[in-house]
Formats: sequence, C-alpha cells, structure tokens
Amino acid sequence: MAVCRILLHGASGRMGRAIAQCADGDDGLEIVAAVAPDVPGVALGTLAALPEPGPEVVASLEEVDVDFDVAIDFTRPEGTLAMLNRCQQSGAGLVVGTTGFSAEQRQKLELAASEIPLCIAANFSIGVNVALKLLREAASVLADDYDVEVIEAHHRHKVDAPSGTALAMGKAVAEGLDRTLEECAVYAREGHTGPRPDKAIGFATVRAGDIVGEHTVMFVGEGERIEISHKASSRNNFATGALRAASWLRGRTPGLYDMTDVLGL
Ligand code: NAD
Repeated sequence: MAVCRILLHGASGRMGRAIAQCADGDDGLEIVAAVAPDVPGVALGTLAALPEPGPEVVASLEEVDVDFDVAIDFTRPEGTLAMLNRCQQSGAGLVVGTTGFSAEQRQKLELAASEIPLCIAANFSIGVNVALKLLREAASVLADDYDVEVIEAHHRHKVDAPSGTALAMGKAVAEGLDRTLEECAVYAREGHTGPRPDKAIGFATVRAGDIVGEHTVMFVGEGERIEISHKASSRNNFATGALRAASWLRGRTPGLYDMTDVLGL
C-alpha cells in the first residue's frame, strides 16, 4: 500500500512534536512537509529529537511546494482555516485536532466537508473514544438503578474544570440514560448538601502535580460498583489517534468524519 504523505501544521507545538515522534518508524506514513511560524529553517527531526533530520520546517503554507495526501493540524483556529483553504485547493484530506473554534469557524469547516475528507475530534485518544462507547452502553443497561459519578485528575497547570473529556464522558452516560447533562449534572458539593438527588450525574475534580489526565466513571448500585477508567501517561495517545485518522482519511470520499468513524465504533 502507498505511503500516506502528511503535511504537519503546528510542527513546533507540543502535539506537533509528539506526532513527528509517533510517525517515526511507521512505514505507512511519511511527514513530507512541516509548518510552524516560530521556527522556520529548523529540521523537524531536531525539533522532535529524532535521529533523522526529516523535512525542514517552513514558516507558512505558501512555502510548501510538495504534494501531500493529508494535513494534520494542531495549531490555533486561524491556522486551521488557512490549512483548510490549502486542502480545498488540492483536494487533500484534513485531520483537525485544534480546539476553540467559534460557531462561524466551525460552520466553515463543516461546509468544506462537502469538498474534502475532513476528520475533526476534540479528543483523538483511541482509549478515550472507546471508553465513551463503553460508557454509553453500560449506562443504557444499568439504567436508573445505579448512581453515576465522574472523577477526573489533571496536573496543577490546568485552568478549567471539569475537563472537556470528563464532560464528554458525562454526556455519553446521560445519552445512555436518556437524560441531558444540563438537567442532571452536579458540579460541586459543599456544606449541608442534603441527600443525593435521584438521577444526578456528579463530578469531582483533582488538580495536582504532573498528572497528565485520569478519568474514572463510577456506576454505584446496591452491593456493587462498576468503574470505567482511562489514564493517560503522555500526549502520545492523541498523536497516535491523529495519525490513525490520517491513514484512514487518505483517499476517502469527501465528508465530515470523527473518531467513531475512524475506529468503526
Ligand atoms: P502549542 O501551543 O504547543 O503549539 C501550537 C502550534 O501551532 C505551534 O507550532 C505554533 O507555532 C502553531 N501556531 C500557532 N498559531 C498559529 C497560526 N495562527 N497559524 C499556524 N500555526 C500556528 O499547542 P498544542 O498543545 O500542540 O495544541 C495545539 C492545539 O491542539 C490546541 O488547540 C489544543 O487545544 C489542541 N489539542 C487537541 C487535542 C485533541 O485530541 N484534539 C489534544 C491536544 C491538544
């Protein structure tokens, strides 16, 4: 099978470097172009501490003069929209990991999916996506007889809570239970809280040290408890998922895809 030629947009970032490392040694993938405005002229291999130099990083998409099958974008929303333009011109596929789009920007991306194959996911971790599927299924079988609590832990630098992944897990459980998260989420408890409301989905947050990201959902019934956990130990889980999405996207018909499509969930 032909090698999937990748343009890496955001090559100097935490995710860009993790993707370069995970692609190294995979015979089915080749990063043929690397773009980052802050480190033009540096070899991608140097940035990602790899043995081979790989392509030289260029500052802008206009400077990319090689053909590619799929672009992987972990930048900022403006960067993604520029990448989208370039992919529309060439018909290449696009994997979008960047987050934080406005409704208008998101709409632009979705419209472009009629012209190119586009995969967008707020979380490219294969494990998290499988966990979401398991949670939906567990919730629909366990129904209202089990109390659900979502517990997440992250490093001390994280500024938002609960994490986006904890919210996605709560939403998956709520869907399995035919509820909406808005009506049943309990995000904080303090003082005289009274007994637990029926049908609540509770959240608890830990912030400490260098924890990369841990999530546990408890289903607690009379006399037993089921826990579904995901523990990330590095960013490589997102990188591996994004690369898997890129290989899957190459040569697909135009359309809007996510990790459930890539993983066949
Ligand atoms: P980072 O700040 O470490 O790196 C950002 C990269 O984008 C750098 O190479 C920078 O030079 C480049 N960049 C910044 N603005 C740009 C622009 N306007 N045009 C082109 N390039 C630009 O960030 P990061 O931790 O690598 O994360 C990048 C994005 O990916 C964020 O939006 C983050 O939330 C998201 N993210 C998503 C997932 C997921 O699974 N979907 C996982 C991790 C991070």
